[in-house]
Amino acid sequence: MKLIYTNENSFLVSNIKNIVENNGLTAVLKNEFSGGGSGDLAPLDTWVELWVVNDADYDRAMGIIKNFQDSEVLSDWVCLSCGEENSGSFEFCWNCQKEPPK
Ligand SMILES: [Zn+2]
Repeated sequence: MKLIYTNENSFLVSNIKNIVENNGLTAVLKNEFSGGGSGDLAPLDTWVELWVVNDADYDRAMGIIKNFQDSEVLSDWVCLSCGEENSGSFEFCWNCQKEPPK
């Protein structure tokens, strides 16, 4: 098992997991349930982690993630301040007017 991605935003980590698995790799989440109920933000020390099960898949997984991050400019985003989902075309959260996560 190797750690391939972690973020304070569990929605983003779950999204990366789906993308990795859609490419045929097996990945698991850690710290998935430490963030409380829906809408709550996890404390910084309990960021959700994404681990690839097969060490041999590590390089491929990192390539998949990099490709995703390079192309995610206009993908949907979740506000870190209030937890609401926003369209990728929104420059500010529709709910609380905060900027999207970098
Ligand atoms: Zn917001």
